[in-house]
Amino acid sequence: MMTDASELRDFTQPDELSDFTLVIDGTPLHVHKQYLAEWSPVWRQLFLDECSSPQEPREILMPDKNLQEVTELLHCIYSTQKPISDANVKFLLELSSEFQISRVKERCEQFLKNQECSLANLVVAEKYNLHSLFKRCMDFAKTKTLEELDSSAECKKLSPQTLLKIYHAKIQMLRDYSKELTQKDRQTIKDCENLRMEKENMKRSLQGIYGLWETPSKRCYRHIADSAFNYSCPDCNEKIYFEVRKLCGEGQHLRRYFPKQPDKKS
Ligand SMILES: [Zn+2]
Repeated sequence: MMTDASELRDFTQPDELSDFTLVIDGTPLHVHKQYLAEWSPVWRQLFLDECSSPQEPREILMPDKNLQEVTELLHCIYSTQKPISDANVKFLLELSSEFQISRVKERCEQFLKNQECSLANLVVAEKYNLHSLFKRCMDFAKTKTLEELDSSAECKKLSPQTLLKIYHAKIQMLRDYSKELTQKDRQTIKDCENLRMEKENMKRSLQGIYGLWETPSKRCYRHIADSAFNYSCPDCNEKIYFEVRKLCGEGQHLRRYFPKQPDKKS
């Protein structure tokens, strides 16, 4: 959704219902206590504390805050709800953490999750306790080489605990990989053994074919005692034909090692 600048509320101007003022660098930002309290438990407590004081102050000085950044935060929680962007995500995270505005913080996290994973975002996730982003960036960090991690300026900003988590995840990943390789290796040895046996069987079958014509028992009863095969006898030929077919049938399963050649005509 595009937000037209003219639609944005001008917080420097009070409206009929504004009942509180945030003062930054001398500039008043007119806001509504009830509304801010709904978004931030920190602000809610602040307003409650002030209600109990004798003369209820209607403004608070925020000397350590940046006017533009706080205005942007207000734009994000008032009805205009400005979108999170590269330009505002950093300080909105900072402010929404300080004032515990969880919905803005969640929107910032969602914005960062839609970006490419990076070590920089891991630093941000750690700093502001963004669990979901942290997990995503951790999965990314573990795929980096040790050299890449060691030379990264971002990694130096991470706590030792998080660095340890990265190394731990890396070890786990490598362990899984090595387990997978071992399994593949075992399967390959098994496949090799099967192939070797099939080859031996095939060899035996083929050698058997040569002997068929020399074997008296493979002839018809009339020529069983002949010294040589009688090629002119249909019965003998038919018996041999069935024997050859039987041997070919035994080798049938080996066809899967010879994939069909693509049709040359097409
Ligand atoms: Zn015969």
